[in-house]
Amino acid sequence: MNSPGDSIDDIISLLNKHYHPITQQNQRHKPSIGSAMLPQIKQQINVLYAIPNTYNNNQDKYKRKAVSLNRQQQQKPQIKDTSSFLIPMTRCLTFKPYSGSTDIIINDVGYYYKFGSSPIKLVKGLLEENGFKESNDKNWTLYWSSCAIKSEVYTNLFAYQKVCHFPKSYEMTRKDLMHRNISKMQINNGFINFNFIPKTYILPTEMSYFLEEHEKIKNNNPIYICKPHASSQGKGIFITDKIQDILNKQNSNNSYVVSHYIDKPLLINNLKFDLRIYVAISCINPLRIYVYQDGLARFATEAYNSDSVKQNRFVHLTNYSVNKDSPNFVANQDPTLDYVGSKWSLLALREYLKLNKINEQQIFERIEDLIIKTIISVESAIFQACEMNVPFRSNCFSLFGFDVLVDSFLKPWLLEVNFSPSLNIDAPLDLKIKGEMLADLFTLIGIVPLDQRFSQDLSYVRNQSNYDSKKHQQEFEKYIIKETEEELKRSRGWKRLYPSDQSYRYTKYFESDRPLNALLRNYYK
Ligand code: ADP
Repeated sequence: MNSPGDSIDDIISLLNKHYHPITQQNQRHKPSIGSAMLPQIKQQINVLYAIPNTYNNNQDKYKRKAVSLNRQQQQKPQIKDTSSFLIPMTRCLTFKPYSGSTDIIINDVGYYYKFGSSPIKLVKGLLEENGFKESNDKNWTLYWSSCAIKSEVYTNLFAYQKVCHFPKSYEMTRKDLMHRNISKMQINNGFINFNFIPKTYILPTEMSYFLEEHEKIKNNNPIYICKPHASSQGKGIFITDKIQDILNKQNSNNSYVVSHYIDKPLLINNLKFDLRIYVAISCINPLRIYVYQDGLARFATEAYNSDSVKQNRFVHLTNYSVNKDSPNFVANQDPTLDYVGSKWSLLALREYLKLNKINEQQIFERIEDLIIKTIISVESAIFQACEMNVPFRSNCFSLFGFDVLVDSFLKPWLLEVNFSPSLNIDAPLDLKIKGEMLADLFTLIGIVPLDQRFSQDLSYVRNQSNYDSKKHQQEFEKYIIKETEEELKRSRGWKRLYPSDQSYRYTKYFESDRPLNALLRNYYK
């Protein structure tokens, strides 16, 4: 087919060419339709198609997905021409933040969520206050999990379903893998361009390299921080300037990452602090990255002093989970009060820095730069995993917690990226920041209303390689731009970092310059 005409026949013929009708015995994948769904929508689901996976281009592995078309409506087509066929959904759901209420009455309106791990109160409360019910079958819209998601969950997704992790995100969130990926970028793209992580060694694998490097700088009395490679909340961390302490660990059979300790952190009231920055990826192809305007600054609870590294953890570690047990910990009970307690909002911190004539704008520009570069370092791994396992471009989104330490020269250092940043509500400030962030995240990712679930068309298609004519390709490109612009309109507290008018600066860091990234880069230039 050269180009679709104006009639429904042309559209069906186009679909038949690109998608494979599902036979009766394969209809177990037919989606169950919410009870509240309009009867006429039910009538429409009478032809099911499978969508090809263009990555492996293997007919046997086509992911079966439902696309509705009503053949009986050929006389009176709802879709009149190709331009309406191209219009992406404009009425995605908007979410209001969780109020913290404990007795919520939910009417069954047809939206369901499912947890892949133990339920998280904030996620559950927020979704329920916005009309979602917990799913007892497979007809869920949103899947939330603090753990990695099994590949069978990905492969069976329908286009309207959203899961909260991209496959292979652990390439960025496991301490050892993050360091490996950024080190690779340093080697390939110049150390200076990726000099935002403390120099790190993965032990025991890199023990001899570590000892060699230590030998060169030992007269400067370097301080190291040692962390179990797959741990969190400050567990198992120790700080030392004695090489023997690290060698002793070698015998424990555990894998450790050893980093240079940033011993001159920026201090406020003589306390060390770090930043929790919320970052979202809403789409991997094209890549779209957002940072949340607010976040948290977490303070240590004892005055900083780098002279003796054998001091207690309340001096050197800024984790909330560590410092909440300190007698000096001060809970912030009033989220409207700034600069109070051991946890501040990021906005309050920025205001404080500004008031103290510290160039906070430069700090945050550098943080945004390191976020984009860190994500680019794993883009290829995630992209390829999605091509293998995830049926639709629209299925995955991710929320990450970037932990950043700013030193006294105002240089931000990336300490780690959290796969599943804490959504615990331990103080009213948590409810305010995390509640608004999450409501804005669910709005941003674009949850399709019930009555549009099976009327999306081009959004089902993975990339323009499905299109064999120039005209189809141009239509698909227009669609991607529109999808991207509409997402931006839903971004609320999320600031889009990529794409932007600066995208071209990052092109050289990608393993491969994907056509859709190039499209948006040129569009925003
Ligand atoms: P975890 O995942 O166990 O929380 P992190 O890497 O976040 O481990 O480290 C815990 C805390 O240790 C950080 O919040 C920070 O205060 C401190 N820290 C970590 N790495 C460094 C470093 N290289 N230099 C100085 N402080 C660090």
